[in-house]
Amino acid sequence: MDIKFKVISMIAGLLLSVSFTVSFINYKKDVQSAKDQLKDVSLPLSVDNIYSEIQHRMIKPLIVSSLMANNTFLIDWILNGEKDIDSIKRYLKEIQEKYSTFTSFVVSDKTKHYYHSKGLIDTINKKNSSDKWYFDFLDQDRLYEVNLDSNDNFGTSLIMFINHKVKDYKDNFIAITGVGIKLENIQQMLQTFKDRYDYDVYFVDKAGEIILHTKGLDKRGNISSIEGLKDLLPKIQSSKSSKHQYSYNKNEYLLHTKFVEELNLYLYVEVNNKKYMDPLGSTLFMNMFISLLVTMVVVFIIRYFINIYQKKLECMAYEDSLTKLDNRRKFNKDTESMFGQYHRGHIESIRLIILDIDDFKQINDTYGHLVGDKVLVRFSEILQENLRNSDFIARWGGEEFAVMIINTLEDDSFELADKLRKSISQDQVLKDLAKREVTASFGIGTLEHNESIDALISKVDDALYKAKESGKNNVVKA
Ligand code: GH3
Ligand code: MG
Ligand code: MG
Repeated sequence: MDIKFKVISMIAGLLLSVSFTVSFINYKKDVQSAKDQLKDVSLPLSVDNIYSEIQHRMIKPLIVSSLMANNTFLIDWILNGEKDIDSIKRYLKEIQEKYSTFTSFVVSDKTKHYYHSKGLIDTINKKNSSDKWYFDFLDQDRLYEVNLDSNDNFGTSLIMFINHKVKDYKDNFIAITGVGIKLENIQQMLQTFKDRYDYDVYFVDKAGEIILHTKGLDKRGNISSIEGLKDLLPKIQSSKSSKHQYSYNKNEYLLHTKFVEELNLYLYVEVNNKKYMDPLGSTLFMNMFISLLVTMVVVFIIRYFINIYQKKLECMAYEDSLTKLDNRRKFNKDTESMFGQYHRGHIESIRLIILDIDDFKQINDTYGHLVGDKVLVRFSEILQENLRNSDFIARWGGEEFAVMIINTLEDDSFELADKLRKSISQDQVLKDLAKREVTASFGIGTLEHNESIDALISKVDDALYKAKESGKNNVVKA
């Protein structure tokens, strides 16, 4: 595997695993603290708020119904045979208006007549289920009771009835009187819990029956038949307030309950965990997505710098540090590539020139290596000035250079070599450095079909040797 790919994958893997782990740990922590917050703070607070609001709202109507039960006019009117209905109408209307109650009523035990501000409206009957409250209350020892009533759920109208027993002067039970108030603010409060926090509120009687609930509650009937809740029922009913966690329909719920003595009902406030945990899940995915993006950016940046660094290294590996020309390694690479193209028919000809500075050792020996170096640098400049961009020039060895020419006629390349030779021998900079004419000898050859690059180099080398042998400062064809 490519080392660059290995390094980048390792860094990306490390970054991703660290950021994913951190995100996941944070998610777990957030879930736990959200759960704790719900369980230990929000839910109990809501239960207490609802409870104290109910209690608060009960005080005034309780006093009013107690006043009514002890009112001598009311007692006398019943004892006198409920004769003047207008007078009781007026009285009940007055109570209703004065104390802003939703309704006020009196039910005589003797006649079972139900009166309210509009007069006699009903005669209650034991067989009638809607009159059950009256007979249930009679069976109790208490002087008053509080009843919640609504049409199916709190969405319509929640009414709290305060029923009070009326006794005559000899302490005999003669009627039930009381008021009903609309619990609009409690209703509003419960709706707010639902809308804002998605809390479900419901009231359950001692038999486990859900008798009132907020809109949208997915549970009905008796708690003892509801999966998840039924096992909790004994625990709920044996304590004044309790907190629980249970599963229902594949959802997890946190539940708080409180017994409301005045209503003889259990108040249940619960929340579906999912609704609170889902946003945390989305945050987790968001964090993971951002980590992925950041990792991608980091990988991109690392790749970018590795590429730059790699190119620099390649340059260093392929460049001659003194003359800045390509070195022999690069030249070999280029010749190989050109050789391939030649065989694929992309180029028509490859010609090679190898040139060697004449008596260079003497320059070194006479003027020192530094001057020798300057001669080499100037020499490379002359080569570059005289060759095209498409030609390949390299420092072949100490004071030897190689030039590869592509797609040029044989005569033209010979002329080019000779032109180079002349330029070198006539160059004033070189003359100034060496205090004499600097010359070079050239070997030149063409790659023949079925010939290898090594064979070409070898024959051009021989030609160079011949050039040296035959007096230097000349060009010899292989
Ligand atoms: P000939 O005409 O036969 O080519 O003789 P020459 O003196 O040019 O050849 P020789 O091979 O005897 O000497 C080449 C010298 O080049 C020897 C070596 O020290 C010198 N040389 C090689 N590389 C460098 C370099 O980078 N800088 C300097 N200053 N000298 C170098
Ligand atoms: Mg030489
Ligand atoms: Mg040499």
